Amino acid sequence: MAEILAVRDLALGFHTETGQARVLDGVNLTVRPGEIVGLVGESGCGKTTLAGAILGTLPKSITWVSHGSVSLAGADMLAGNGAEEVRGRAVTFIPQDPFASFNPLFRIGTQVMDLMRWKSPRRRPGRRFYSLARRRADRDAVIAMLEAVQLPQPARLLQKYPHELSGGQRQRVMIALALLPEPRLVIADEPTTALDVTVQAQILGVLRRLAVERGVAVLFTTHDLGAAWEICDRIVVMYAGQTAEIAPREEFFTAPRHPYTRLLLRSLPEEGRHPVGIPGNVPSPLAPPPACRFHPRCPRATGICRSQRPVLGGASGHLYACHHPEEGLLDA
Ligand code: SF4
Repeated sequence: MAEILAVRDLALGFHTETGQARVLDGVNLTVRPGEIVGLVGESGCGKTTLAGAILGTLPKSITWVSHGSVSLAGADMLAGNGAEEVRGRAVTFIPQDPFASFNPLFRIGTQVMDLMRWKSPRRRPGRRFYSLARRRADRDAVIAMLEAVQLPQPARLLQKYPHELSGGQRQRVMIALALLPEPRLVIADEPTTALDVTVQAQILGVLRRLAVERGVAVLFTTHDLGAAWEICDRIVVMYAGQTAEIAPREEFFTAPRHPYTRLLLRSLPEEGRHPVGIPGNVPSPLAPPPACRFHPRCPRATGICRSQRPVLGGASGHLYACHHPEEGLLDA
């Protein structure tokens, strides 16, 4: 099946006084229609920069793109060809912190309807035409979507200010807004990080159910492997700006091949054993280790790991970039 999103060999970064910092260096990733793909890795591995590249909203601090491509619903997001047309329509975004996305001075309903007016196909340059009938239809659609994300009394909720909603309610509103344009892909950037555990499970359940029901693909960035287990079909592991491993969910959790993935899984808390941390830190993009960027932390590193960069290879949809892959989980 043709991908809705394809990132191929993407490398980008920023200039420094001494050269170039490579924030992303050879990232590969695909998302097929209706699929939920988890993008996991430690803080600083490049997940948020990659989400910006996919949306065509890279920060100004990123000053060069050396090679690679980002194709999203037929648009070239790096060159900007068609990016405006797909952003907010074919692809939408759920932020990590929904509170920061609302203006605290206006009611939820005012802000939501402003957004609907902006998205109305009747809008013309220099003149906004938003008929009463269209406004009523949009309001009905908003209320139906708020019900779909299991928010009770949606009409009353629209009258409230952002601070009157709980974190879970605000994130449900964000999910509703992301799904309203009937997108083909939703990028969810750590959408449950700011929520407590029980609310997290509810939000993940709502997101998974609606994505499956509506056939929407989701790219779900997270550092929480438990959340990835809950909702993902496939998982992509990033390390220091590179793709380390791509695997179907079951294989990822039972038969990881990349040493970094194996160590990540061993660091999960589990009944009956203490989690074991990964020694060392994620390297800075200003001075990443040569060849395999994981080699200073890897228990399996040999000479070739320090001199030759491993390429992404494998079979049957399970890919990994490692000179010495192993199968199975590590013992505690
Ligand atoms: Fe470890 Fe070498 Fe594989 Fe890198 S290539 S993850 S250093 S074994």
